[in-house]
Amino acid sequence: MKTLDILTPADKEAVDLPRLLADEPAAAGRKKLYIESYGCQMNFSDSEIVASILKEGGFATTSSADEADVIFLNTCAIRDNAEQKVRNRLMHLTGLKRRRPELVVGVLGCMAERLKTKLLEEEKVVDLVAGPDAYRDLPRLVEEAETGQKAVNVFLSREETYADIAPVRLNSNGVTAFVSIMRGCDNMCSFCVVPFTRGRERSRDPHSIVREATDLFNQGYREVTLLGQNVDSYKWSQSPQTPEGLVDSPNEEAPFGSLGASVNFAQLLEMVAQVSPDLRVRFSTSHPKDITDDVLFTMKQYANICKYIHLPAQSGNSRILALMNRTYDREWYLGKIARIRAILGEDCGISHDLIAGFCTETEAEHRDTLSLMEAVQFDFGFMFYYSERPGTLAAKKLADDVPEEIKKRRLNEIIALQQQHSLLRNQRTVGQVHRVLVEGFSKRSDDFLQGRNDQNKVIVFPKEHFQKGQYVNVLVTDCTAATLMGKAV
Ligand code: SAM
Ligand code: SF4
Repeated sequence: MKTLDILTPADKEAVDLPRLLADEPAAAGRKKLYIESYGCQMNFSDSEIVASILKEGGFATTSSADEADVIFLNTCAIRDNAEQKVRNRLMHLTGLKRRRPELVVGVLGCMAERLKTKLLEEEKVVDLVAGPDAYRDLPRLVEEAETGQKAVNVFLSREETYADIAPVRLNSNGVTAFVSIMRGCDNMCSFCVVPFTRGRERSRDPHSIVREATDLFNQGYREVTLLGQNVDSYKWSQSPQTPEGLVDSPNEEAPFGSLGASVNFAQLLEMVAQVSPDLRVRFSTSHPKDITDDVLFTMKQYANICKYIHLPAQSGNSRILALMNRTYDREWYLGKIARIRAILGEDCGISHDLIAGFCTETEAEHRDTLSLMEAVQFDFGFMFYYSERPGTLAAKKLADDVPEEIKKRRLNEIIALQQQHSLLRNQRTVGQVHRVLVEGFSKRSDDFLQGRNDQNKVIVFPKEHFQKGQYVNVLVTDCTAATLMGKAV
């Protein structure tokens, strides 16, 4: 069993590892950018925006840090160990910088935003610090750093959505892509650093989202995942200055054609689903306080919207949820699960985020989390132990008083139970036929392909004549807690 502070489903295992930029052909004569991304999907998506901005600025990309003129680490600050990983990487880069003093080393993303100029004092190898809303300024910042000065921009914007920037797809499988639909977060979960590092919530123009999804489809992509910290609070209005013009229900005003006063998430989902019935649509992350029946009915209405919802719970105990400032309690969460099951059926995939050992959590309250898991039977989950983050409400007001060994023991109990539930949920699919979008060869053998079904479960099956990007009906014949195995029918 893993005793890390995170457990990820098989297909997302790479998310917590840095991903590198691919080589770009015909790069001769141009300066080279190398970028590593850490943390959430949003960061990987942001790195694609960064690559696009630097490409406009005359850079080519490389997958080798050794031959780069500029090295960026796009960082995560969500837990302490995410920051430690970046600090270790910076230590390794010190040798490279010593050999090539002209090399520019930049730290981007949430850690840059959280630590600002302190990062320059603490990590001498760093030349450039840029927060998540400052990426348009990167070409100028690089120029400044090249003169030997330290370059910093950590300005947080209320408007920036990078809507007009066509991301350069990095290390893409050519089949699935992330599309960012909003930035920032206005919730103040007491444990979370995101509102401080990514700023206020803002929604991206739906025209640009649909255009990006259409372009991806035309390039051969067959799945888009709409990304935001809280997609259910997506709300775009033509003139943000007149909020009284907002419309809540998709029935009140047609979102298409005229794109009336405003577009909410259910409407956006419908717009993207209509790009093509052959384009699968996923989204992440949903917030239990905001997900609406409208969203669930829109999912039901469109076969190409995947029947899978990531619905972080964080805890199964109402007192802890109140301390976390999640603004829902255990009953509300279970009520949302009941709505999902009622509207989308028992087979809809549901995953969670859970935090073990939050401030003042008792043994009985931890058992409430286990009993919530028993009640829901999640398909999989992302599980962490609490890591206090400086500046958050919890750090200011609550004692981080659960000893580390107890946090880890509780986390391990949560992980072990999830393993059981993942296996049970996967066993339900044995004997069923699932539509799989092929993403490439299986990790173990080129004689097998792998893809995911609607519920986001990884399925491996013999290659035969099938190819990446195709939809294949696969009969599930066997499974583990992480993977389904089958054969095409
Ligand atoms: N916006 C999403 C939501 O509200 O569900 C999640 C954003 S966060 C990047 C991903 C997950 O990290 C959270 O759902 C939470 O479980 C976990 N997390 C956030 N802050 C944490 C902390 N201080 N310690 C441990 N886990 C944390
Ligand atoms: Fe963090 Fe809560 Fe916002 Fe998610 S909803 S990013 S956990 S503050």
